Amino acid sequence: MTGLFDSHKRRIDYIRVSVTDRCNLKCSYCSDGSVPHLPRPEILSYEEIQQVVQAAAALGIRSVRLTGGEPLLRPNISHLVGLLSDIEGIDDISLTTNGTLLGRYAARLAGAGLRRVNVSLDTLKADRFQAISGSDRLAEVIGGITLAQSVGLQPVKINMVVLGGTNDDEILNLARMSLDPGWHVRFIEYMPLNEPAVDSSQWISVAEMMKRIERTLGKLEPGKVATGAGPARYYRLPGARGTLGFISPMTDCFCSECNRLRLTANGRLRPCLVADDEVDLKGPIRNGAGFEELKRLIAQAADRKPKRHNLTKRQNNSKRPMRQIGG
Ligand code: SAM
Repeated sequence: MTGLFDSHKRRIDYIRVSVTDRCNLKCSYCSDGSVPHLPRPEILSYEEIQQVVQAAAALGIRSVRLTGGEPLLRPNISHLVGLLSDIEGIDDISLTTNGTLLGRYAARLAGAGLRRVNVSLDTLKADRFQAISGSDRLAEVIGGITLAQSVGLQPVKINMVVLGGTNDDEILNLARMSLDPGWHVRFIEYMPLNEPAVDSSQWISVAEMMKRIERTLGKLEPGKVATGAGPARYYRLPGARGTLGFISPMTDCFCSECNRLRLTANGRLRPCLVADDEVDLKGPIRNGAGFEELKRLIAQAADRKPKRHNLTKRQNNSKRPMRQIGG
């Protein structure tokens, strides 16, 4: 078998790279600011990220997703996209963003080699957007989505984290966006990591989300998205151009299909999103580790992937907040 495999025989061909732990939104369920920002010198430079991805590609990594924090806050992020798209073996570069700056950068990112984007959008109501994120930039997000589609960053996937009493009354409205304008919308179960204390009574399962959609909008038919299926299960409403995806880390974990490693903003490779085991790459890189040493450390992280996550419904499953790991 060629490629990178973990000790449970899963092929590892995907790396998610958090390029910053800073964000211009303060989403109530994601960050309460209690974990301080990483000092800037701790954050990997673009050239250091390039070194990691080069070594990872030599082992068999094929896809890279840039995330954060908010990746579009990092100055000249399209330069990083260009560096990564020149790496032999990397054939898919994508980005997860809150969309506030997407309108400004979409064309440049597409030109640099970015293929597609996921946009986080938990509400279609301006006042609620303000209440959840502390920002009045909903219109910019919607504009960014339209622009990303028009410059060919396809498919654009919309990610909604559903919380009872916060935005669950908008499940149907987001689902309708798959009919017109044909969005690909993904509904995500909240994961209790670090930082914000979300009341467990707010937690809603994917099964409940699907039930609510089917009750009003009709039976969900199995669906597919063109690229990057990831952990979501896809369906389609009757007659819809877009799809509805459901991501159920809590109730139906997809660990047996996990194909990814995560590089934190400060250069630690995490075998699993929610386990605090990490392999330090920044220290070795800054001490002059060569290509083969980096490959060895990356293979070590892959080998340490747990068979499944140990997420529980209690808060604080991880020392790091989501914005450091990269969601
Ligand atoms: N700033 C970018 C964005 O908003 O997409 C990228 C980083 S953000 C941490 C990545 C994703 O993680 C977002 O879709 C966000 O909604 C999701 N997220 C944050 N905290 C979460 C949690 N506790 N459970 C599930 N998803 C979460």
